[in-house]
Amino acid sequence: MRKSIGTQLFTYILIGTLISLLSISGFFYKVLEQRAQGAIESTLHTQVAMVENKIQKVEQQLQDISAITRSLKQNEVDGAEVYKDAILSLFEQRSSIITAFGIGQTKRAILSDRDWFWPYFRINHHDNRDLGSPLPAPHTDLRYWDVTEDHYEEKSYYLDVLQKGHSYWIEPYIWHGFTMTTFTGPVRDLADHIIGIVGMDISLDAFEAQIDRPVVSGQGNLAILSRAGNLLAYPADPEKSKALASYQDFPGLAELWPQMQQQSNGLLLKDKTFWAYRKIPETGWIMIAAVPQAVVILPVIRITIIGLLGASLILASISATFIYRLNQRLNPIVERCKAMMGADSDRLQRLQKGKTENPAAEQTIEAKLEGLDEIDVLDISFSQMSQQLQGSMESLEARVKERTADLQKAKNEAEEAKNLANSANEAKSEFLANMSHELRTPLNGILGYTQILQRSTSMTPKEKDGIDIINRSGNHLLTLINDILDLAKIESRKMDLTATAFDFNGFLRGVSEICRVKAQQKDLHFEVIKTGDLPSGVIADEKRLRQVLINLLSNAIKFTDEGKVCLNINALRLEPKIPGETALCRIEFRIEDSGIGISSSYLERIFQPFEQVQNTKAQSEGTGLGLAISNKMVTMMGGELAVESELGQGSVFSFELSLPESLTHHVQNDEAFQSDITGFQGPAKQLLIVDDRWENRAVLKSFLQPLGFEVTEAEDGEAGLSTALEEQPDLIITDISMPRMDGLTMIQQLRRHPKMKTTPIVVSSASVFATDQQQSIDAGGSLFLPKPIQLAELLKAMAELLTLTWVQNSSHSSSKPKKAAEALTLPHPERLKTLLKLSRSGLINNLTVELDRIEAEDEKLGEFTQQMRTLAKGFQLKQIQQKLEEYIEAESAVSSS
Ligand code: ADP
Repeated sequence: MRKSIGTQLFTYILIGTLISLLSISGFFYKVLEQRAQGAIESTLHTQVAMVENKIQKVEQQLQDISAITRSLKQNEVDGAEVYKDAILSLFEQRSSIITAFGIGQTKRAILSDRDWFWPYFRINHHDNRDLGSPLPAPHTDLRYWDVTEDHYEEKSYYLDVLQKGHSYWIEPYIWHGFTMTTFTGPVRDLADHIIGIVGMDISLDAFEAQIDRPVVSGQGNLAILSRAGNLLAYPADPEKSKALASYQDFPGLAELWPQMQQQSNGLLLKDKTFWAYRKIPETGWIMIAAVPQAVVILPVIRITIIGLLGASLILASISATFIYRLNQRLNPIVERCKAMMGADSDRLQRLQKGKTENPAAEQTIEAKLEGLDEIDVLDISFSQMSQQLQGSMESLEARVKERTADLQKAKNEAEEAKNLANSANEAKSEFLANMSHELRTPLNGILGYTQILQRSTSMTPKEKDGIDIINRSGNHLLTLINDILDLAKIESRKMDLTATAFDFNGFLRGVSEICRVKAQQKDLHFEVIKTGDLPSGVIADEKRLRQVLINLLSNAIKFTDEGKVCLNINALRLEPKIPGETALCRIEFRIEDSGIGISSSYLERIFQPFEQVQNTKAQSEGTGLGLAISNKMVTMMGGELAVESELGQGSVFSFELSLPESLTHHVQNDEAFQSDITGFQGPAKQLLIVDDRWENRAVLKSFLQPLGFEVTEAEDGEAGLSTALEEQPDLIITDISMPRMDGLTMIQQLRRHPKMKTTPIVVSSASVFATDQQQSIDAGGSLFLPKPIQLAELLKAMAELLTLTWVQNSSHSSSKPKKAAEALTLPHPERLKTLLKLSRSGLINNLTVELDRIEAEDEKLGEFTQQMRTLAKGFQLKQIQQKLEEYIEAESAVSSS
């Protein structure tokens, strides 16, 4: 393997850091170098200023001596001692660097008594090089010498000044073992004649003492060179100046010297040394500061090395931690990749060599990975993975395409099958509907005539029995047709529930009345038990709920020979009322009987269509569809039909429904239809019957004519239309499907006619389609009655539409209140009177309290109190009073008989 990622990373980081550190150091170096150069130049500048200051003082003194000499001469002072004294006093005030001075006259120019005179005072060095004689106290440190002894008039130091005619600094020289320089110049009288020369000697030691200091950071040397390049002062090596060395004796300087002549100051770098120079204008001397470059580089190197070491240390520890963690995470991935690649190559070899394992496979992978780092391993395994993935994706894509095609095919087939099933179902529904229509038409005749014949008084009992049998069989056939149709509708999902608000108590009363009659016929005890706070009205599909209850109760009565049949209605819970929302009431319906029971093996199949227990005597009476339909309807209403049964003990069918409570229903007035109608009050009414079947027309005609109606017939819509317009009947009864013009078209055309706009039209058809029923109302029909027509229902409808008052058989009507009273257990007449009083005064609350009390005293009074409560809830005070008056009358009639 190559160097690991960690090591590579470390190397990169290290190199990067070094480069940046070096750049930083370079920057530092430049800054420090500039600062050092500034410091060098500044020191040089200061030193030059100090030296200049001294020089200026020397030059000033020369001016002073000249001025005093001139003034003495002017005043014609001519004594040697006076001049000596004057010079001595000036010498005492000399600048610190001056070691000796004197003034030498030109021939007889100052003192007239002699040719030459040069008084000269100098500092006593107390060594054998001292010239002249020491002075007495208080000037013991000074010596006096007359330079005349040196025959100065012949010497160049005298002659040169005369020749030049101005003051100047003499190049350094050695005089009696002292290395010195001299500032010399002429003294002129008022006529500008040179009367003498002044020489002021300066020891080079003095200069050296002046500039004996390091240039910068404790390092570097200063030196002063004369205009000609002779060394005046060099504290680093005083001997050199004493030996009158020149710039040529300094290797680096010799080369730079010409350059230095060109400018008054500057800074040069030569032989790893900074050379800074500045000229002293008065003298033409050059002061030089020489500083080794190392003085600048060393701190930079120091900073760089310390920084480098520190940074490397921090970097190394951070990198080591990072690499350690990186490796920790990377190693398992790399190992997994290797394992995966090994497995892949194994698989490949197995596939190629016909399932024979190759032990060298692992080695091959190891060998393959030799010299590669982690990224390479990942790269190889990822490209391998992506190839595999691509392969898998392609095969997956192909499989998906295949599956999609299969699915599409299956979907098409299913669609076809569904369509087929649908059309079969449609065909079945259509067939059933047509068949039911065809069967209902003859049944209309049969049942119609049996109903008419049952009213006959001239028949023998045997004939009446025969008619009853025909009627029962016809009704049975009708039930069968209805059941089959219902089931077909449920199965093809064409049955819809139509929820309406209805009087729940009235509803239960209706159901129990029908069943009580059947139970009484079999001598069975029939009971309706209501518990809980039952709502007075609910919203549900009244017709379907009635169908279910009647079916279950009929079964219970049918399969019970002795004992009792009981309908329990239990209000389980009325959901708490939220203002403005409808309350939900959970109601349990239980139908119990003490009949033959059902075997457990049969219980499982009981809700399947056409299932009947074999060999039961009641079998012949049923269709085997009732429970299947009831079960499905309960499910549609949101409940679940349950059954518990034990052979020989009886059965319990039960279900629970959540029904919204209604407050807007009408309380039913149980005006049971009177079958003993003989006619109606008022003038005769004219009827038009439109039907293409003569038997249907005949049934209606036979039934209605004896009651006092004048009946006209028409065979189809067209005839109906013309007859109606001609005769202007009071009411029309019409069929829907007829040749030439159907009933609906006829109604529509009639309604367009002004005179026929309000004439009541009853539509009666064997059609079972809800759409037909709706359409007949939409076309302008007043009412729809299904065929076979129930004559009682027809009379009820006619009474409403024509506002008729029936004339009934008087012997029956008088017994009515009594019958009603008998059906109920009533409280004591005194209690009834109290209730009547409360209802008359409108005290509904007190009335309900009284009802509670009555019920608590005697359970049997439950049905009575429930009836009263329902009316009280609906604030139907008038009806309460009517009922109570009836009951009081009935009670008193009973007690008087
Ligand atoms: P049917 O028209 O035969 O009554 P159902 O579907 O209503 O059809 O009932 C199916 C069968 O279930 C009945 O034939 C009868 O054997 C059994 N069954 C239904 N109700 C009861 C019951 N209360 N007691 C005993 N057997 C019952």
